[in-house]
Amino acid sequence: MKTETKIKMPMTNTSYLRYKGTLCPACGCNDLEASEVEQDVATSWQSITCLDCNAEWKDVYVLHMYTDLTMPVTVKPIQSLIVEE
Ligand SMILES: [Zn+2]
Repeated sequence: MKTETKIKMPMTNTSYLRYKGTLCPACGCNDLEASEVEQDVATSWQSITCLDCNAEWKDVYVLHMYTDLTMPVTVKPIQSLIVEE
């Protein structure tokens, strides 16, 4: 008998983010185990398992910004790809 099903998310992403991904979206406990982070171009994700109710899901991370750029003074900064905010 199959006991695992994909169901409508009981916790909204807004709520999940409010708790910074520290609570199981199924049962609400915080006893979670995370796998290694996997990455594709501008997105990363990791599988999370709730050690209390055994629910499984993925946390998704999206590229937010870059920082701490260092570059040789001889480099001519690009102009064509710069988008004004
Ligand atoms: Zn749980």
